Amino acid sequence: MTDMGLVVVGAGGRMGRTLIRTIAETDGVHLVGAVERAGSEALGSDAGTLAGLPSLGVTVSDDPLPLFARAEGVVDFTTPASTLAFAEIAAQARIVHVVGTTGLSVADETAIDAAARHAVIVKSGNMSLGVNLLALLVREAARALDVDFDIEIAEMHHRHKVDAPSGTALLLGQAAAEGRGIALAEAAVRTRDGHTGPRPEGAIGFATLRGGSVAGDHSVLFAGEGETITLSHHAADRTIFARGAVKAALWARGRKPGRYSMADVLGFTT
Ligand code: NAP
Repeated sequence: MTDMGLVVVGAGGRMGRTLIRTIAETDGVHLVGAVERAGSEALGSDAGTLAGLPSLGVTVSDDPLPLFARAEGVVDFTTPASTLAFAEIAAQARIVHVVGTTGLSVADETAIDAAARHAVIVKSGNMSLGVNLLALLVREAARALDVDFDIEIAEMHHRHKVDAPSGTALLLGQAAAEGRGIALAEAAVRTRDGHTGPRPEGAIGFATLRGGSVAGDHSVLFAGEGETITLSHHAADRTIFARGAVKAALWARGRKPGRYSMADVLGFTT
């Protein structure tokens, strides 16, 4: 089989540049396009140079249409609004769309489901093997422990992150809710301030820290009477997300249209 041609959108971003480097060093894939938004300083530069590599002969463009038309997949870690626009174009082009973007609303998620009728979409709030394994462990722990164990999810990210709680914290909250057989939307306590009253029984709490250059730290605490169990993951750098995204693109190649998760890619679905 020939190498899979991939387009990186948001090429000048933290994840975009990491993806360009990861694609360049991964067998079975190659970069066929790099997209940034209109007006971006990155436009016109070589994608390789932008990512700190020798030139790759791919110029950063603000026009996704011709690039998607000659690609087999697009890897997208951008913003919710741009991800929705890219999902439509990827669906028209009938190509694989790997989405790492977080902070999508319920309505945005419905639009992604609609696009997945025509495109193969792999979307996950965290593309790393470690966090997806952690989610599996959290689901089992929540299933095994009764409601006397209070579930709290703490996360820390770099100072530039714009959404909270992180997509990963929500993914872990979803895993805990599934283990408990409850709906996350009803159990989630996403902020606390002032006189909050006692903790509601069965709540799944979130705590958000922001600062420095932290790539992503997550802990899920099961706090019971006299003992606390903590399951945690530390991302040393962004390469783990980029490697997962490229793995997802290769896994999705040739599959029928639909929406898939990283758990599907890793074979973690039960
Ligand atoms: P970032 O550095 O801000 O990168 C986003 C890039 O997308 C920026 O270069 C931005 O350009 C560009 N962009 C925005 N709108 C665009 C458009 N319409 N067309 C083309 N490019 C556009 O952010 P990041 O740290 O890389 O994170 C990006 C997203 O990935 C966030 O939602 C983050 O939470 C998520 N993320 C997910 C995972 C995972 O495993 N799922 C891991 C890490 C991060 P400008 O800056 O010029 O606007």
